[in-house]
Amino acid sequence: MDLKMNDAVMGVELSGIRQFSFLVQDTPGACALTIGEPDMDTPDVIKEAAKAALDANDTHYPPGNGYPYLLEAISRFEAEQHGLHYAPDEIVVTVGATEALYASLATVLSPGDEVIIPTPAFSLYESIAQLCRAVPVLLPTEEHHFQIDPEALRTAITPRTKAVVLTSPNNPTGCIYTKETLDAVHGVLKDLPIFVICDDVYRTLVYTDAYHSFAEYQDMRERIIVVQSFSKPYAMTGWRVGYVLADRAVKDRLEVMHQYAVTSVPAFIQPACAAALACDTAPMVETFRRRRDYVYRRLVEMGLDVQEPEGAFYMFVPIAQYGMDSLTFCTRMLKEGLVGLIPGIYFGTEGYMRLSYCYSDADLKEGLDRIQKFIGTLRA
Ligand code: PLP
Repeated sequence: MDLKMNDAVMGVELSGIRQFSFLVQDTPGACALTIGEPDMDTPDVIKEAAKAALDANDTHYPPGNGYPYLLEAISRFEAEQHGLHYAPDEIVVTVGATEALYASLATVLSPGDEVIIPTPAFSLYESIAQLCRAVPVLLPTEEHHFQIDPEALRTAITPRTKAVVLTSPNNPTGCIYTKETLDAVHGVLKDLPIFVICDDVYRTLVYTDAYHSFAEYQDMRERIIVVQSFSKPYAMTGWRVGYVLADRAVKDRLEVMHQYAVTSVPAFIQPACAAALACDTAPMVETFRRRRDYVYRRLVEMGLDVQEPEGAFYMFVPIAQYGMDSLTFCTRMLKEGLVGLIPGIYFGTEGYMRLSYCYSDADLKEGLDRIQKFIGTLRA
């Protein structure tokens, strides 16, 4: 029988990041520096809110976009903490940023449309674009210190360009776009019928006062979609909850995607999300800043020419000098050096590996000692 499935689905592989992480997990004695989630537990006040909701039988279908109290809390939080003004009916609470990105891209992309993805990038965007039968157009940034070169962006734009994805702070580099970069990108896009998807899920984890999001360019409001997540700032990765902010006309269509995919996020986690918005994230940011400083210093001392990241919890470490592609390098480092990092190729950029510092001080020290020893064997 000639049984065919959707060829768009057949053409997309499962995430290389996840597959390599499983390989690290399955390697006895390996020290993993792979994971992309805070190593802290969800704060008690958040968990208590969910427990109370369960006890109060908040277990029925909630409104599709989220309970009004949560939409209002998000609207207030965005305005007060981040200067973004979106009414409650311009917000959809989603199953993590992952569903938010899926719904956003699927809402704007028709088959054959192009979406520009500055690389290195989180691989999800390219996969979603392919599932939508759209065309991912990769825009390399490594020659520009991981900033977007406006001329390169201009050149990448065609009449089929429908969207650009901006991730700041970035996964895997930890870099944030400077105001100069954002102004230049705005200059290129401001009069074009192109959507900008702002994946700002690491926005809280920044180690500089100079952070700006493209979402601030509200003259383009009708083309901007902001993707947010509870995962990273509140150590809530397993709760699977995020949200989208979008101008009403876009949100009304995005809501269609969301409704037919998931109906809504679970009822009883929504009070927990409202509680999360009131949590102080400063101690977590301080922990990651301290680790960032330590890891950066160690890598520089090893002679690795890493760029100091200003956000998130990753470093994108150049390894081209060792004359191997990133998969070979990371596989050898895992087998011979017993330390696991993610090959840069899984983010669309060769010659690098991603190190996550979502680990204890002791694990980071051990992992860095092993990296040092392994690269020592290559130099010898
Ligand atoms: N966007 C970026 C840049 C990420 O790194 C991740 C997860 O690692 C996500 C989105 C997905 O986050 P969520 O857990 O909210 O689905």
